Amino acid sequence: MRLITKRITVMFFVISMIAMSFSGYIKKDESIINKITSTKYVEPKNVILMIGDGMGKAEVEACLYIEGATLDGKLAMQYLPNQGEVTTYSADSVITDSAAAGTALATGYKTKNGTLGMSPNLESIQNVLELASSLGKKTGIVTTKEIDDATPAAFTAHVNSRGSKEEIDTQQIANCPDVIFGGGLNNYTEARNKTEEELYNELATNNISLITTEEQMFKCKKGSGKIMGLFCKDNFFEPGLKPSLQNMTKTAISLLSNEEKGFFLMVEGGCIDTNGHLNDLYAQAKNTKDFDESVAIAMKYVSNHPDTILIVTADHETGGLIMRENPEDYSVPFYFTTNNHTETNVGIFAVGYGTEIFNGVIVNNTDVAKFIAKSMGIENFGDPKADSYSPSGSFGEGIYGINLPDAA
Ligand SMILES: [Zn+2]
Repeated sequence: MRLITKRITVMFFVISMIAMSFSGYIKKDESIINKITSTKYVEPKNVILMIGDGMGKAEVEACLYIEGATLDGKLAMQYLPNQGEVTTYSADSVITDSAAAGTALATGYKTKNGTLGMSPNLESIQNVLELASSLGKKTGIVTTKEIDDATPAAFTAHVNSRGSKEEIDTQQIANCPDVIFGGGLNNYTEARNKTEEELYNELATNNISLITTEEQMFKCKKGSGKIMGLFCKDNFFEPGLKPSLQNMTKTAISLLSNEEKGFFLMVEGGCIDTNGHLNDLYAQAKNTKDFDESVAIAMKYVSNHPDTILIVTADHETGGLIMRENPEDYSVPFYFTTNNHTETNVGIFAVGYGTEIFNGVIVNNTDVAKFIAKSMGIENFGDPKADSYSPSGSFGEGIYGINLPDAA
């Protein structure tokens, strides 16, 4: 284990040096970098959690290598001062799916693959978005997938199967966050035998405004009630669909911010996973880059609001991406080893009050939810037995063959 870790460290050092020499400055903004690292962070009011779906540590490095830097020489997330690793295994499998992993990040409970917002015994459990709402905070979700896809649904629904879209939609309407932006118009209309106009009226009776275009999004005003933005029929897999993840993130932050009691926002870069399944390295790197530019937008907000916590992580790795031995011998020294998810730990990059606890250590994915709840003043959130799970089974084609950490 120690040897493998050392090997990874050396590999990442080599690849970082190569990447640095190839990538130019796309957007030099030292003010954000300096402010992020020098600000004195105060007790938090706001939390921004950003999840790159399928974004393992190799995906982050490949993005820097292929797409170049977002800020001065690195990806934006790589400037966040507190960095460590997060486990991804679920309650019943060493290799998680996005439903169980999203549930762990949202609720502090490990659950079975396919389950959303429920314990392995199928008891409904509170998530951090619901907790924030109960404390009078504003809440938001932004995703490049359908809003009823696994990751956003882990923060907005409680169902025993991620495939129960209609039930997820019903719950999302009944308990709609203040802002929810993404795709999935077809699921909300055709799949429920409704026209767009009927959906508009249904949402209106629940005090939710439906918007479907970027133009409408830019016109949204703070304090004008709940907004559901369904900007495409399915998800944002096809490049060029609008609005961009960057613009959705920017708009959501501005609609939620300056509230007396603060806000909780979850942003998902969802198509990193899709392109990992397809083993499309360049498209995946582009998705990771869009996600990282959205991280830069959140960093800019944090640099002016020291009462905000920003956590960037992933739910799991997808594709078993690995860097070749002797990377200097290849123009692009990365290759995929599977079409599926892997069991490897993912990275965590954080800034804000108390986030030092993530620095240089491996935490459980359930600890992310527990930390967010604690930052809102709530102790004992999540499953007290979350660390006791030690699922057995195949480790698959793991990218580095990392074994699970001891369950302690
Ligand atoms: Zn996946």
